[in-house]
Amino acid sequence: MNIEDKIDEKALPFLRKFMRDLESPRQVRRFGSGWLSGFFALLFAIAGLIMVIALRFPDWFATPELEIVKQWTGFRGAVHVILLASYALSLLSLLLRPRKALGLMALLIGLGATLLGGANVQPEETRSWGMFFGLDFFIVNLLATGFMFAPLERFRPHRREQRLFRNEWREDLFYFLISTMFVQVLAFITLAPSTIINENTGSWDAFRAFVASMPWLLQFVIAVFISDFAQYWYHRLFHQVPFLWGFHAVHHSAKSMDWLAGSRMHIVEVILLRTVTSLPLFTLGFDASVMQAYIGFVYIYSSLLHANVGGNFNRLGHWLATPRFHHWHHGLEREAFDVNFAIHFPIIDKMFGTFHLPEDRWPKDYGIPEDVPNGYLKQFAYPWTRTGKKTD
Ligand SMILES: [Zn+2]
Ligand SMILES: [Zn+2]
Repeated sequence: MNIEDKIDEKALPFLRKFMRDLESPRQVRRFGSGWLSGFFALLFAIAGLIMVIALRFPDWFATPELEIVKQWTGFRGAVHVILLASYALSLLSLLLRPRKALGLMALLIGLGATLLGGANVQPEETRSWGMFFGLDFFIVNLLATGFMFAPLERFRPHRREQRLFRNEWREDLFYFLISTMFVQVLAFITLAPSTIINENTGSWDAFRAFVASMPWLLQFVIAVFISDFAQYWYHRLFHQVPFLWGFHAVHHSAKSMDWLAGSRMHIVEVILLRTVTSLPLFTLGFDASVMQAYIGFVYIYSSLLHANVGGNFNRLGHWLATPRFHHWHHGLEREAFDVNFAIHFPIIDKMFGTFHLPEDRWPKDYGIPEDVPNGYLKQFAYPWTRTGKKTD
């Protein structure tokens, strides 16, 4: 199933018009065209709808970290303001914009949220579904990351011509959705091996106490280095073993780079990668706050590495991974093959002869000389269906 094909060929003409409106070229998106107001109307409407759903079906939203947000007395007030803002902006967009699909879609979603009960919605007395959806976490995460990187990519882009809504963005958004929706399930699976090790290695306790007694910042730097070292070899293995490459090829299939593109990763690879990089962190005695800081840091850092952010940083790039450093890892040209596996410390690549950072130059194109199909499900099946056929 390819969402894009579905929308382009089968779905309602309105949906098609809406997508075309959302992806309008820059000339028809300029300030005053009603596109910005329509876009933010849509964003607020979706956020409002999800918040209303979270209040109505509390069992679906089990992310405990966000419980505190829902308990917050101002939450319903916030829902109210967000829905009002969404209405006002969608009306503004409908007034300003000759094309009406974007404003209309935002209005319809806002209405849906209101019909569900709006800010005064009461929880529905349903039996527990026993399911976990981190949908609320998804929206919080997406907004936070988007608001962090979208302005940066706009003011300091590497490729100025690249659009925010480039060709593959819907696919990458789906990857983002999947990996954040099941964040707790993933955490549970990836932490199981560390838990087992910790239970059976009581003799390491003196060493763990020593690690925990180090200054916080030192613990943090060591934690980042060790996990990058583990990540380096894991990553090289996925480039070298043909069957494993089938999984990793999905990550490399992105033809444009931005903060969202890094989310494109086969779910099996995500689980294994998190297991491998968290093993040293969770078994060597680091302070819990170091591990939490690491998880947040690595998430933001990897978005930055993939972001469409310029700046050559010729000197810094030898010491700390920069967007240009990781963009070379995604380059389509031959000189970019199998280089820059580290994601924090380029020195690991220097140690093992895989460092590549030519002064002032960027790769011309991104991707791999191999046909990876479009669509989440086809890419999910890719490791088992791939023929290895090269297109060059
Ligand atoms: Zn790679
Ligand atoms: Zn990457």
